[in-house]
Amino acid sequence: MKRRILIIGGGIGGLAAGAALGQQGVDTTVVEIQSENLVAGVGINIPGNALRALKQLGLLDEVLGHGFTFDRVDFHDSSSRLLLALRSKLGIEGVPANCAIQRRDLARILEKACVDVGTSIRYGTSVDTMRTTPDGGVEAVLTDGSAERYDLVVAFDGIRSSFRRRALGVEPRFTGYSVWRVALERHPDVTRNMYFQGMGTKAGLFPLNTDVMYLLHVTPEPGNPRHERALFHDHLTERLSGYTGLIGELRDRIRPGSDIVYAPIEEVLLPLPWHHEGLLLLGDAAHAMAPHRTQGAAMAIEDAAVLGEVLGREGELPALLPEFQERRFPRAKIAQDASRNILLSEMDTADRARLDRQTDFIRNGLEAVSHQVDDALNLPF
Ligand SMILES: Cc1cc2nc3c(=O)[nH]c(=O)nc-3n(C[C@H](O)[C@H](O)[C@H](O)COP(=O)(O)OP(=O)(O)OC[C@H]3O[C@@H](n4cnc5c(N)ncnc54)[C@H](O)[C@@H]3O)c2cc1C
Repeated sequence: MKRRILIIGGGIGGLAAGAALGQQGVDTTVVEIQSENLVAGVGINIPGNALRALKQLGLLDEVLGHGFTFDRVDFHDSSSRLLLALRSKLGIEGVPANCAIQRRDLARILEKACVDVGTSIRYGTSVDTMRTTPDGGVEAVLTDGSAERYDLVVAFDGIRSSFRRRALGVEPRFTGYSVWRVALERHPDVTRNMYFQGMGTKAGLFPLNTDVMYLLHVTPEPGNPRHERALFHDHLTERLSGYTGLIGELRDRIRPGSDIVYAPIEEVLLPLPWHHEGLLLLGDAAHAMAPHRTQGAAMAIEDAAVLGEVLGREGELPALLPEFQERRFPRAKIAQDASRNILLSEMDTADRARLDRQTDFIRNGLEAVSHQVDDALNLPF
């Protein structure tokens, strides 16, 4: 009999999993609490390992057609002096090393991929209650009052996962740092990802397509303050005040009405098992990380591709799920640790001596460390 899976959350991971499972002939429903495919955030970089997963799902060409590919990341000081041009090793097996894309374009591609394979997406819907059934399945009562039996419920409900909280009581951990982002008209010099090391902060630029790029700024935010949206412009431009060169020029283009997104950088890494009484936690719900290796959504997309591959096979879930999780945990941990290490070393620069040490590391040590992580991510997912 066909497996029946319910996915909670129609974000990047949930929609990718809806497509992956549907392609394997699994009867899949995605419930998304928002009333439509509304996408928060600016753009996203999809690194080569996740592009390989999208290739497995037959979505690579469409993603590349909407995005901006690049294989080099440039590191500068706060006056835009180049410190290191780092070539990524993630471009293997016919995929580029990176493809940056607007989040809403990626969401539309994933949504269409679900529809094409018969996965149903129910917007404005969530799960009210769940209980395990004697045959090892789950009965879920949805917020529209309908009740159905599923073989498994998969929660891809994001970093603030209420299903993780309900099942395990785990909340994300604030790292002490936050990121500010704003989309701007692409500057002609921005043809790859560029970072700018400031004193105690870091700015960056990502091209999203030929017209649009986004500027990011990572800053210490002790105590995790709640900034008022109306003051985002003032806070961001003030925090960028130490930069000259390209970032200084772009800072002056940010307008008071610009759509600025502010996000505390938080982490979650659930120990195994990620599977509790018919509920499997994946994506940011299981392994949220700092954005520094652009691997959060990448790991959610890998989760989705591997889930489709494993649950598309014959066999009992109690045997398949541990295999699935043992493949996923080490990769999520590599990506999370690498991201945190970059965040902490870039932020440990609040005085001249520490900034000089970091500048020296960027020039002489960063490439080797970065390539080690690339090599690990190039292994099969
Ligand atoms: C500043 C920043 C930059 C980033 N840049 C990158 C990058 O360049 N590359 C990269 O790979 N990653 C990046 N990430 C990480 C990436 O955004 C996340 O890892 C990714 O979105 C996680 O996907 P997900 O599907 O697990 O969760 P989400 O994409 O957060 O989706 C969760 C979905 O679940 C829905 N939901 C929540 N609760 C319920 C409920 N009770 N019932 C039903 N639905 C529910 C939500 O509405 C949402 O649609 C970045 C993150 C940040 C903060």
